[in-house]
Amino acid sequence: MSETGKVYLIGAGPGDPGLVTVRARQLIERADVIVYDYLANPQILDWARDEAERIYVGKTAGRHSIPQDEIEEILVARAKKGLQVVRLKGGDPFVFGRGGEEIQELEIDKIPYEIVPGVTAALATAAYAGIPLSHRNFSSAITFLTGHENPEKHTLSIDFRDYGTTKGTLCIYMGIGQLPRIVNELKAGGMSGEMPVAIIEWATLNRQRSVFSTLDSIVADLEASGLGAPAMVVIGEVVAQRAKTEWFEGRPLFGKRIVVTRAREQAGQLSALLTSQGAEVIELPFISVEQHFDPKRLGEVLAGIAVYEWIIFTSANGVKHFFDLFYKAYDDIRCLGPMRIAAVGAATAQEIEKHKLKVDLIPKKANADALAQELIENEGVESVQILVVTGNQNRESLVQRLESDEGRAIVDTLSVYRTSKSDLRKNPAAERFRQEGADAVLFTSSSTVKSFVDQHADLKLENGARKPAFGSIGPLTTKTLKELKLPVAFEATQASLEHFVVETMSFLRA
Ligand code: SAH
Repeated sequence: MSETGKVYLIGAGPGDPGLVTVRARQLIERADVIVYDYLANPQILDWARDEAERIYVGKTAGRHSIPQDEIEEILVARAKKGLQVVRLKGGDPFVFGRGGEEIQELEIDKIPYEIVPGVTAALATAAYAGIPLSHRNFSSAITFLTGHENPEKHTLSIDFRDYGTTKGTLCIYMGIGQLPRIVNELKAGGMSGEMPVAIIEWATLNRQRSVFSTLDSIVADLEASGLGAPAMVVIGEVVAQRAKTEWFEGRPLFGKRIVVTRAREQAGQLSALLTSQGAEVIELPFISVEQHFDPKRLGEVLAGIAVYEWIIFTSANGVKHFFDLFYKAYDDIRCLGPMRIAAVGAATAQEIEKHKLKVDLIPKKANADALAQELIENEGVESVQILVVTGNQNRESLVQRLESDEGRAIVDTLSVYRTSKSDLRKNPAAERFRQEGADAVLFTSSSTVKSFVDQHADLKLENGARKPAFGSIGPLTTKTLKELKLPVAFEATQASLEHFVVETMSFLRA
């Protein structure tokens, strides 16, 4: 370990966290300090260690950003303490990002540094608006320009008349504020009023918006659209060559904000499905799930595991925690014995199949009653020893039916995890939900509904926030919503995440 730390000047890309480089992510993950500004998406700070110091140096409402020399002081002082300092900048650090000034300062102070390029806004906006920046017939040069070098200085730093006769594409950063002057100068320099122009605001994020126009009409069209900074102005024949399908803004859930209520560890899959359709997702884990069991009971069940003829799993969580405990006791899957395996639904079955175990029974309707019924009717369970693996929320009706005169099975239950309500009061995502609202809240279980209702007072939406519709993953969740007097706007036709997303799309697009 050296005495001095190091500064990493990193491009954070245009906004979408997926466009951050692998190298940047590695460095963010191990940083001691992260100094970031307005255009670096704060979501990527979630990759940092909890202990990492996060310093915001961008502008805030009503206040100018921290002066450049203070930022440089922060970097130098932290690095001198031996810390690994990440300086995150939107886009690329060397494209209108004052990266050059920062490294000069580091060199004066003999602070070692590294530079990681990023996807600059011009490239990202073009890609996400479907505009090819170069084209064999229309554009053989690409120019990056800035409307004003310093956002606080409202003057043009270049003579746009020089670019009036360009045969290429102009990408103008920070051009919105000075657009009328830029347009006039380009025309004075010889550019046709018919020249196609695009303006793209907040590119690559789910709030991206764009206007397409011509040099003559863009000022009026921009005003009518209400778009503002940050936005990129793209001028050139290539704008007219843009893709016909709007691959990004045209996605089914584009512009929709959706709340996912599952426990943190489980939210990812549903969030990913929604995001891939264009939605902006707010994860509010209303419940948390943790391993929990009675050691004595677990010991008994595992010692006698081979006597069961059937093992029934009522949730994917049950499968996960059961096998985790099982492998702690045994190191050979054959210790499970020759039992047959039932799963309440497709998601649970998938979790079982990860262990290369075949699932013998999944009921046609994904619920515990249907499972009991199919076992009783199709398999016959009289005097059969069955193990039911569950969580702390009891599955009494399943056990009762199997043991009743209908079934006469001998049933043992093993609870391996506990679901509890989580407190969202301090969660920043909850704050966003209160301020901005959402188009839909997706409930994936009765327990998420109950926790939502409990915390309703703390989640009261502010004026102007979008009022969400409530979606349910299946009949049981719907029942709970109704009992708690929440209106159910839509229900998945089958209890799977994929069906839930399809139903969400058809509801929100209707
Ligand atoms: N270093 C950055 C540029 C910083 S200057 C980069 O390489 O991208 C800030 C300007 O970049 C904004 O005024 C806007 O013109 C442009 N910009 C940055 N992010 C943008 C985005 N997501 N969508 C549109 N324009 C963006």
